[in-house]
Amino acid sequence: MKHIVVLGGGAGGAVAATRLAKLLKHQREQRQIQITLIDQNPHHEFRPSYLWVSMGIREPDQVQRPLTLLARKGIDILHATVTAIDPEKQQVTTTKGTLDYDYLVISLGAQLRPDGIPGIENTYHAWELNDAYRLRQALANFHGGKVIVGPIEPIYRCSPAPFELAFMIRYLAEQRGISEKTEITVVHPWQQPMEPFGPFMVNAFNLFLRQFNVRFLGGWQTTRITPGKIHAADGRELSYDLAIIIPPHEPAQPIKNHPTLANPDNGWLLVDKETLRHPEYKNVFGIGDIISPTLGIGMAGVFAHFQADYVASQITDEIKGTYMGLHYNRSGICVMDVGYLGAAVFCDFTDVIQGKAKYPRCWMLGGMRAFRGAKIAFERMWFAQLFGR
Ligand SMILES: Cc1cc2nc3c(=O)[nH]c(=O)nc-3n(C[C@H](O)[C@H](O)[C@H](O)COP(=O)(O)OP(=O)(O)OC[C@H]3O[C@@H](n4cnc5c(N)ncnc54)[C@H](O)[C@@H]3O)c2cc1C
Repeated sequence: MKHIVVLGGGAGGAVAATRLAKLLKHQREQRQIQITLIDQNPHHEFRPSYLWVSMGIREPDQVQRPLTLLARKGIDILHATVTAIDPEKQQVTTTKGTLDYDYLVISLGAQLRPDGIPGIENTYHAWELNDAYRLRQALANFHGGKVIVGPIEPIYRCSPAPFELAFMIRYLAEQRGISEKTEITVVHPWQQPMEPFGPFMVNAFNLFLRQFNVRFLGGWQTTRITPGKIHAADGRELSYDLAIIIPPHEPAQPIKNHPTLANPDNGWLLVDKETLRHPEYKNVFGIGDIISPTLGIGMAGVFAHFQADYVASQITDEIKGTYMGLHYNRSGICVMDVGYLGAAVFCDFTDVIQGKAKYPRCWMLGGMRAFRGAKIAFERMWFAQLFGR
């Protein structure tokens, strides 16, 4: 029997495991393969909805599902923390024992590193579920003033999300009748909003910023946060009443600085950009946020999803002998709810990943109130496809 082990039950891992279980149904039933999914969190969380949790339009339990529901699709679920990976021995060590694998799919994502910036503990963000809930409580007590939103580093989950959050806060302030006395600023290490996405997106986001009366301060490297003040490396400082600061992201612990699996340039998982296999260990695949810095693209669930489809196709091809599966779709779509309206950012990163272009080819869809419905529909579809019968 061949054993496929999937590490991480987030966007990439959950899609990979369910796709493999479906494609290899016959082999599972013949007891030729076994699929095990390992996660330290008993729940799969739909992270895009964290912003709605912070805005009070979703409760935390509405944006997560128990991973054990995937057992009915023929996937073994192990609720444990992965502590080590030995690609030579083809073994994964967890807090609940060691497993041998024939194929390993690593989708352990990024983890937040709150240390390093003095004073960050007194700020808020929505990049983990409990933090999104904490931000909601802070917003409940917000009655106008200066709001700052921004990441410490340019690599974080979902590039447009800090802007989306800033626009939502403008909407919230208008609803409360405190917009006149609310000043919202996005501070960012990029010089321009959405800079790595190219001039089209920079223009589009500059328009949004003007429309929703949100200020942008680029080239901003936060060095420390003192009560009521945020300080940048170049000496600039800003006062605030509410600071929403996204902590730096680092690779999940088992990969960070792994002697053979990590990319020596950046510490994230090393994969071949075309096949998503580790260059040395061909039965080890990487998907999702943990490979984004290696591919040179942002972190997005949609990337993780398409990569999971592609990796599942390749493993199926090897196990079955032949399988004409899905090609690697290198595009991403992010539907934003900015309160007044919804908009979808669509970008094709093929040329960026292949080193042929500096910027992706991007389009902006929507821009009308009805388009907010697209985001709601996507959330419903996500849970139905993964966890429905
Ligand atoms: C506020 C916000 C808004 C977003 N909006 C969008 C959007 O609109 N569109 C979009 O495409 N993306 C969006 N994203 C980004 C998207 O959620 C991530 O890119 C996506 O979840 C990445 O999937 P992943 O499988 O790589 O990692 P994750 O989904 O983070 O999953 C990693 C899993 O690994 C587990 N894990 C980690 N370490 C260990 C360990 N040692 N042992 C066991 N388990 C472990 C974790 O518990 C987790 O379940 C958003 C993210 C945030 C925070």
